[in-house]
Amino acid sequence: MVPGDVLVEEGRIAAVGPGDRSTPQVLDCTGCAIIPGFINLHNHVPNTLLRGVADDMPLEEMLPRAAAIDAKLTRRDVQIGALLGCVEMIRSGTTSFHDLFYWEDEVARAVRESGIRGFLSWVTLDESRTTQHGNPLKNADAFVAKQKGDALVTPSVGLQGVYAASEETCARAKEIAERHGVRLHMHLSETRGEVERHRKETGLRPVEWLEKIGLLGPNLTAAHCVWVTMNEVRTLGRHGVSVAHCPVSNMKLASGGVAPVPEMLQEGVVVGLGTDSPISNNAMDVFADMKIAALLHKASRWDARAMPAQAVLDLATIGAARALHMEAEIGSIEVGKRADLAVVSLRGAHTTPFYPENVISHLVYGCRGSDVQATIVDGQVLMADRIVRTVDEAEVISRAQETARELFEA
Ligand SMILES: [Zn+2]
Repeated sequence: MVPGDVLVEEGRIAAVGPGDRSTPQVLDCTGCAIIPGFINLHNHVPNTLLRGVADDMPLEEMLPRAAAIDAKLTRRDVQIGALLGCVEMIRSGTTSFHDLFYWEDEVARAVRESGIRGFLSWVTLDESRTTQHGNPLKNADAFVAKQKGDALVTPSVGLQGVYAASEETCARAKEIAERHGVRLHMHLSETRGEVERHRKETGLRPVEWLEKIGLLGPNLTAAHCVWVTMNEVRTLGRHGVSVAHCPVSNMKLASGGVAPVPEMLQEGVVVGLGTDSPISNNAMDVFADMKIAALLHKASRWDARAMPAQAVLDLATIGAARALHMEAEIGSIEVGKRADLAVVSLRGAHTTPFYPENVISHLVYGCRGSDVQATIVDGQVLMADRIVRTVDEAEVISRAQETARELFEA
């Protein structure tokens, strides 16, 4: 922690520490911590519209229920759902998110409108299993080709998971990603059922099978990895695969077990934190997920030292940046990096007293999204004094409410 100011010039961090305040635009951060904005490493942001429709049921029941509503979604619905999610994330200090959905071009529109940074993966799966219009692989290919080279949008290729993608689909997704030089993003070993079914069908556990078909590599981020053996953890590490840890989603869906994150870190696997879908979280407040991540590992291991506050804060910031191979640009407050920042008030009753020594603890165990006073991406102030500046928040909320009502009445 450094006391002082952060100077931003032309979208980048120009200086950190005590500085002069004669610059044209000053955000008063007295009594606040300036932190690197959170990077939500696994999300399905348009699913904000489905928030609360599939609670208190396991993944196997949740997926078909979500798919039935999914089939009715229009492009406009996806766009407004994504915009609602972007507003929610901006309000709680998230500056980047890694999304897995279809019609990601509509999510890209919401990203540009709101000013947040989006790492957007168009999901692919077998054509026989999709609700997408057209062929998912062709859709992903066209999306990546069209969106490459944008300042805020980084396109990539998604894969639903081994339970919905054949060897051929996986190979074609990988080919598209390699041809365009972009990343892959998939679900992996989320439930015991997924692992057992795959083992029965192929004789191999999902990580072993993906290694065999050549899909594992440093360009892959895998979400969940709850049901993995130590051998599989080492395999992920050996291939440079990064993992999005989604503890709230895993706990809510009672996926059972706990992702072996301390072992992953020990074996050199890069891990970041993801909220997962608003269907299975249901919020996108990374503060809540950091606290739960820390508590989950401590409670399940009977070890209060497991996953300390700094390690968890790292998952939500620099860890996620490393997972996306973006650590030279985002994930920490360093001169030369993009100015993606959140200003968090430490003046609340629940964060008093604060000292330099306990700021990290307060951020992980005490703070909540509503403590964020300002959010900045690429030097642009997206929210100040808790007022979102890029979009009309009230209008977005009322449009989303209306869209959801139409969706569920239809
Ligand atoms: Zn997911």
